Amino acid sequence: MSLSGARGLIRVAHNPTCELQAAMMLTRVREQDVYLALAGTAYPGEYGERVSARRRGAQFEKNLYQDGAAVLRGTLAPLLGVAADDLTVRDLSEEVRGSSTAAMEERARRTDRILMDLAADRIVPDLLIQPQLQLTLAGNLASAIFIAPDVLALDRQRHVYLPVEIKSFIVRDGVVAQGDRDGARRQAAIQLLALAQELIPLGIADRLPEAAIFIFASPFGMRPHPAFAEQLSAELFEMRRVLDTMAQVRTHLQALGADAIADAEALALAAPRLATTYQESCVAGCLLAQICRQHAAAQPTILGDRAAQTLGETIDLPRALALLHGAPATDEREAWLGPALREAAARFDWSTVVQGRAA
Ligand code: SF4
Repeated sequence: MSLSGARGLIRVAHNPTCELQAAMMLTRVREQDVYLALAGTAYPGEYGERVSARRRGAQFEKNLYQDGAAVLRGTLAPLLGVAADDLTVRDLSEEVRGSSTAAMEERARRTDRILMDLAADRIVPDLLIQPQLQLTLAGNLASAIFIAPDVLALDRQRHVYLPVEIKSFIVRDGVVAQGDRDGARRQAAIQLLALAQELIPLGIADRLPEAAIFIFASPFGMRPHPAFAEQLSAELFEMRRVLDTMAQVRTHLQALGADAIADAEALALAAPRLATTYQESCVAGCLLAQICRQHAAAQPTILGDRAAQTLGETIDLPRALALLHGAPATDEREAWLGPALREAAARFDWSTVVQGRAA
């Protein structure tokens, strides 16, 4: 599983201070290969999106796109203020099939031409299915990655396209699960950044609002819930910071003489000189979690984010244990923490806590 694309950027957003994760994305080395190079054995568990979830998502999208995108047009028409029958469509996934690099480059060329037509006030389709955008990660073309919104929808009044993010997540009573919604919003924010990068040289980036359109599923089979648009200012801020992180990590890799890394062994060699910041989200999100947890052995983060927040950056686990045993405090934080730890320990089995074992 390579960390390239929107999924990788979202991972970096979850842990923006981890240089190793950002380096995996910049170098496009597969995560499981880095695990193998660092651990000496293959990753023992499953990885990647569940097949069933991927199948459901693909089927949901297919239903929207088939028959001249009849369901897609019907779903977006009220939001775009144009009758469904009047919405014109180009489906680049039909025009150029496949997921090879050559196919993606051809879809990117066709998308570019349509955006140029938009800037030149020529006629463009209202709906562009499976366009291909490019996003420069670290200020140079070599770092550009493909970003593929599900659809670009033309806002005829602003005369600009908006990304449409399609997910088969179910909306119940107007609500979609928080984690699903957050992920979809971040993905759409990345698409907006890529679209803005493409529109800047065309001189029309100022038309682009900080918003995207979402189509989720209704609880009734594969039928879509009504489409809605949302502002994404916070996610755009977050994703711009991710791009800053990528640029900083690239500079660090260059300083280490490691910017030309092309395989997992080379990245594993550079890994000790790259910062890792183990945290709770690593467990569910990164194949290297066990390795980084071992390296963080004395850090409070191995007990979870709440413990890390409570102890702060200056107090590691041996120091916390010393304070628990009554070591004199050296600052205000320790003066508060020592009694608090002893009070907490008194509520548990003291004998296990004083021996330093997990309660
Ligand atoms: S597990 Fe390690 S490499 Fe992965 S995000 Fe966490 S700290 Fe970074």
